[in-house]
Amino acid sequence: MSLKPNAKPVLEVKDLQTYFKTDAGIVKAVDGVSFTIHEGETLGIVGESGSGKSVTNLSIMRLIPSPPGKIVGGQVLFEGEDILKLSEAEMRNIRGDKISMIFQDPMTSLNPFLRISTQMIETIRLHNPGVTKKEALERSIEMLKLVGIPSPERRINSYPHQFSGGMRQRVMIAQALSCDAQVLLADEPTTALDVTIQAQILELIAKLNAQMGTAVILVTHDLGVVAGMCDKVCVMYAGRIVETASTEELYAKPSHPYTEGLIKSVPRMDTAKKNERLFSIEGQPPNVIDLPPCCPFHPRCQKAMEVCRHAYPPVKDLGNAHEVSCWLYLDEKTKEQALQDATLQEKA
Ligand code: SF4
Repeated sequence: MSLKPNAKPVLEVKDLQTYFKTDAGIVKAVDGVSFTIHEGETLGIVGESGSGKSVTNLSIMRLIPSPPGKIVGGQVLFEGEDILKLSEAEMRNIRGDKISMIFQDPMTSLNPFLRISTQMIETIRLHNPGVTKKEALERSIEMLKLVGIPSPERRINSYPHQFSGGMRQRVMIAQALSCDAQVLLADEPTTALDVTIQAQILELIAKLNAQMGTAVILVTHDLGVVAGMCDKVCVMYAGRIVETASTEELYAKPSHPYTEGLIKSVPRMDTAKKNERLFSIEGQPPNVIDLPPCCPFHPRCQKAMEVCRHAYPPVKDLGNAHEVSCWLYLDEKTKEQALQDATLQEKA
């Protein structure tokens, strides 16, 4: 779980904006998201449903359904090249080969009518045309073994429905990593599984990350999962990143009131008192259609000030690679200026 010294950045997301056009207005699902992930690093993207974390991953893979969705701005640099500028044919070579994705429900990416062997061999040969069928089969068996499928030589000839949910998830991870992808996007990879299987799958992803140096972006709503797996964390709210820090720093000094609420709502075995009610953040996430220029968390925030209701907070660097977007960390002069500007704009 620790980043190697001199690890190279493998993926840089800069000011990514993905909008959806709906009859009710424009949904700014991802609005100015930026982060960098290095080889061998695990980044957690955390937030409630609708915060934009899954759309961020789908945008990186360029799998946004269009229409109604569109990546309207920003860059996604893979090894320095902006993959948002690639043709669809060029993007197909990146997808699966260099950047792979595992989804919440394995059945969405496994074909129920084809044997696992057929699907894995096809994936490997699609990205490595020089590989023979025999070599692809051997590689597939090796990957199934790596992810802990018992008797892989025999099980590879099964159909997806002949596996349990946890085993299907392992097959999907094996398939996603069979082409030695450098970045693995895991979107709530354990949500559909029971707790013991969840732990096994997360352990497996961590093992592969350590063994193969794969950079992992883990999308989850569960800060407990992040604590055990990630090097750093981006907390998302209403389409934007509101706080970024190393996992250790985020738990030690959560700075955004939303992050504080998320951490408080994780059940703790060590400090919980008998019959104590679990903390929950009051209110609902905002409707992200045509959001006004304010802190979208203000209706739920107990520390909200006047400026929070009129202007979006800029990013404040707290040092130690810790950044937060919250007016609590800006000086009085900056707040007054923002309030004056907002009042003028509202009058205009
Ligand atoms: Fe709360 Fe204001 Fe910070 Fe938003 S900017 S989280 S409303 S204090």
